[in-house]
Amino acid sequence: MVRPRGEIKVICQNEKCKYYLKEEGKDIIKRGKYSIGHQRYYCHHCKTFFMETKGTPLYHKHLSKSEIINICKHLVEKNGIRSIERITGHYRDTIGNLIEDLALHAELVS
Ligand SMILES: [Zn+2]
Repeated sequence: MVRPRGEIKVICQNEKCKYYLKEEGKDIIKRGKYSIGHQRYYCHHCKTFFMETKGTPLYHKHLSKSEIINICKHLVEKNGIRSIERITGHYRDTIGNLIEDLALHAELVS
């Protein structure tokens, strides 16, 4: 008997795939993890692997989710980048890049 597949919430992130960003008819399975602990997925249609964070502001970030949330909390409290640098201990360019990516992502969503 085949083990039932768990609920997969991600969608294919390969632009060349027929099922790119399509929920219906997708055929995606979990296939291992990346070294920093992110889940790796595999699309049966285009036969590519991708990371769970692809297509989100977390993609290509060394910061963990909790660190990013922490920085965002300081941001909405109207702390400056240098102020956040002193509070969290992350370099200001790291924070600046993160804010830029967040803004870009927000623009794409809206
Ligand atoms: Zn695909």
